[in-house]
Amino acid sequence: MTPPPLTHLQLELDKLKSCIHCGMCLPACPTYRVTGSEAESPRGRLYLMKKLLEGELSPEAIAPHLDQCLACHACETVCPSGVQYGKVLMGAREDLAQHNSSFKRRFKRFVFQKILPNPEIMHGGGLLVRTYQQSGLQWLVRATGLLKLFPFGISGQEALLPAVPKHKPLKAGMQFGDPMGEPVALLTGCAMDVFYNNVHWDTLEVLVANGYRVTIPEQHCCGALAHHAGETDITRELARLNVDDILASQPVWIVLNSSGCGSTLKEYGQLLGSDTLYGERARQFSAKVVDIMELLAKKPLAPFKNYALHETITYHAACHLYHVQKVKNEPISLLAQVPGIQLVPLTNAETCCGSAGIYNIEQPELSGEILENKMEHLKTACLGMGATTVVTGNPGCLLQLQSGINKHQLPMKVRHPISVLADGYRNPSP
Ligand code: SF4
Ligand code: SF4
Repeated sequence: MTPPPLTHLQLELDKLKSCIHCGMCLPACPTYRVTGSEAESPRGRLYLMKKLLEGELSPEAIAPHLDQCLACHACETVCPSGVQYGKVLMGAREDLAQHNSSFKRRFKRFVFQKILPNPEIMHGGGLLVRTYQQSGLQWLVRATGLLKLFPFGISGQEALLPAVPKHKPLKAGMQFGDPMGEPVALLTGCAMDVFYNNVHWDTLEVLVANGYRVTIPEQHCCGALAHHAGETDITRELARLNVDDILASQPVWIVLNSSGCGSTLKEYGQLLGSDTLYGERARQFSAKVVDIMELLAKKPLAPFKNYALHETITYHAACHLYHVQKVKNEPISLLAQVPGIQLVPLTNAETCCGSAGIYNIEQPELSGEILENKMEHLKTACLGMGATTVVTGNPGCLLQLQSGINKHQLPMKVRHPISVLADGYRNPSP
């Protein structure tokens, strides 16, 4: 087979060459920790990509190792040489995706282009899941173990389903808060709006309590999952739509409560960098993007109202917030200000939980092993230190941790940190 043109990987050659092979990233890499294999480590994958560029290895030989990478960026945080591993990986994934004509790839492109960006389909799916959960059918299916008879690990995927809340829509054009307040645009996302629509309302409540004027802009899927899979042409197309429509609401800040989406929006400036029509506006757009925790930490919080809370919380740092956006201490320092909240540490809080976009669907075994490591530390926080809640700022992590907690039957809730802050701004229940 003709080797693919490696145009995107070639562009990252300097970054690839900046690896000094010191190996300091190995202990930080979740896939290396689980497998013990150099080929599943950052240093090993960089070497494989170099050999691909030099024509000594085929795409087929290295693809499985790149597929097993979580793209968690933990290796970047510890690298003394400042290797931008994520950029190299995404360049290689984009080149390899273009070389792949399999049914699986075409199906994924269909999902990224036609399903995720379509709110009617997404919410229709959410309604079906909610009906399945609330009609008693889910109970029956689980009690009889029916799904174990089906292939493709469907039973495991079903266990990941969170309770889908009733959807209370936030529509484009809605405005909330002080008309004279600093204007912000709140983005609602795709999966986040189906599974955690309540988190958007909590986010609104906290923003309004802190004096912001919040607009829900016309918006589209951010393209994060497509980018993760190397289908970056789809992400660029969605980025152009978002730059046009979100900037039209003239926000000072573009706010997200999903760290995976936020980190992709922060990359639009670079992804559209060479686009003569969009490059400059995409850079302006990305400079306005903030995670909700990052925004709230910029100035003192408005006073809380609720002094009746008693909750012990531990914090899991989503990779795309901690390692990519470098929002590290803000969530903890904000949570610590909520009256009645006690924080206990989570060992290796910044290590990936194995969710990583759709990694838990595509690599269920490795994802499960990585989750088990996380669960060991969560057990200590819960059973050893009394944590009753684990909080994290990304829908994939919320789903993944919930499935681990269900499996281990830990007496713990999983919540978004903004929901804890929202509790602090509500009047105590009588
Ligand atoms: S820590 Fe950085 S320089 Fe060292 S092996 Fe890993 S990627 Fe290369
Ligand atoms: S991105 Fe994460 S999984 Fe991939 S090589 Fe780096 S540390 Fe390992």
